[in-house]
Amino acid sequence: MNKTIVLLLSIFSLISCKTSEVGILVEKGLLIQNAQITSPENQTMSPDNFIVVDGDEIVYVGKDKPNLKGSFTIIDARGRYIIPGLIDGHVHVTGTDALSDEEELDNPEIVKKFREQLPKSYLYFGYTTLIDLGTAKPERLTDFQKTEIRPDLYYAGGGAVIGNGYGLSNWKDDIPNFIYQENEDYPIPEKYLKENHTPKAVAERIAASGAIVLKTYYEPGFDPTQPRFPTPSKALMEELKTEAHKNNLVLVVHGNSLEAHQFLGNAKVDIVAHGLWNWGSHRLDSTNAIPEEIKQVLDVEIENNVGYMPTLQVINGLRELTDSDYLNNPELEHVFPKNLIEYYKANSNVMYANVFGGAPKNIIATNFNRISNQGKINLKYMFDHGGNILFGTDTPSSPTFGNPPGYNGYLEMLEMEKAGVPPSKILAMATIENAKAFNLDQLYGTVESGKKANLLVLNKNPLQDITAYNDIEQVIINGIPFDRKTFSAQKGAE
Ligand SMILES: [Zn+2]
Repeated sequence: MNKTIVLLLSIFSLISCKTSEVGILVEKGLLIQNAQITSPENQTMSPDNFIVVDGDEIVYVGKDKPNLKGSFTIIDARGRYIIPGLIDGHVHVTGTDALSDEEELDNPEIVKKFREQLPKSYLYFGYTTLIDLGTAKPERLTDFQKTEIRPDLYYAGGGAVIGNGYGLSNWKDDIPNFIYQENEDYPIPEKYLKENHTPKAVAERIAASGAIVLKTYYEPGFDPTQPRFPTPSKALMEELKTEAHKNNLVLVVHGNSLEAHQFLGNAKVDIVAHGLWNWGSHRLDSTNAIPEEIKQVLDVEIENNVGYMPTLQVINGLRELTDSDYLNNPELEHVFPKNLIEYYKANSNVMYANVFGGAPKNIIATNFNRISNQGKINLKYMFDHGGNILFGTDTPSSPTFGNPPGYNGYLEMLEMEKAGVPPSKILAMATIENAKAFNLDQLYGTVESGKKANLLVLNKNPLQDITAYNDIEQVIINGIPFDRKTFSAQKGAE
């Protein structure tokens, strides 16, 4: 935050005059006038507000005209809507191009262009704050943070994977923060010291790395014909929660099955990083009813106020691998460099086979549509019963072109609306509710004095029309306004 502001609190309340002026001395700033603020906490502000930004901080919001001293950029926002910058609570910025390590080595030019574009793609769709929920390559977070104009990035660092569990089968060496859990089938390899892999040691290491989240996993596996991955015991999860909180870390746990949500709801973790779309032996039928057993699991999560990230785009993004027309969507040209789209087009069948093997595309598409609908029906249930729903896309969830950076957030919002969540709730989740969930609400989530000047100028009212999130006029990041189109990948190609 810019601490150089000098606030002149001389308020010229002119007696017997209806208008008053607020004197503000700013070194270098931004003035937004005629601002219709559409903030989740104050949704019906009149269209005659002033917003004053000093450096990267909002220093004034109000109807009284500020009497400004200093040099200012002025935005006349008449007829437009100002909202806080959006927060995606679940991304992975280090793996977003969906290429394998080998493919990246073979295509350095594609990778270079993509990494340059990645921060801009998030900004193009208004995402000014990202939470990276786990990476095998923490050094790439630093690369992302070196970009001059980019979303603010917070992270979990290397995930606290359960020893030899999901994400760490065969004790790969590149996840340094694994948790060792006694298990006679999987003794810890000799080269590791057990005391370096206790919840306490791992939480302290993660906090020292600058992370704000401790991310762990409850994933028995996706293929019932294969042996189960080890999952954390109740006692271990309790210890992880205690150690995470001692180190001011938010405990976020991967889980998307009935078994995982049942365990995590009862364990009262802070946030489950996925919706409950995997219904176990249950199937959504034409009645669209939620089975009683699923309802009971959701009820426990609601009762315990566990954060629930629907991440509907995980399933949709995988389904897109079955759609030969998907890569012709013109929106993709704003977020993927041209050479990457061409690469995807040339390799889409290989990418499909890498994920789904020889399974027929029409069967995969039908199944994934059903699973997607299971996720949406659960989301509506959570909303109707006061669940603590948070906004996260899991971009990218897997090696697919179906989770495009930035655009994936917009698609997630469209899906949420389709599920029956009202626009006011969608705005709140993607701003203040995410900010609170990650203990970032001092900085983000509303248009208020003292908060960071990450703002969006929209051409439509997002409370009336969800497509407002794809009709952004300007993105203000760190107090500096940019025309949205400067962030388009098409711009980079010119
Ligand atoms: Zn994820």
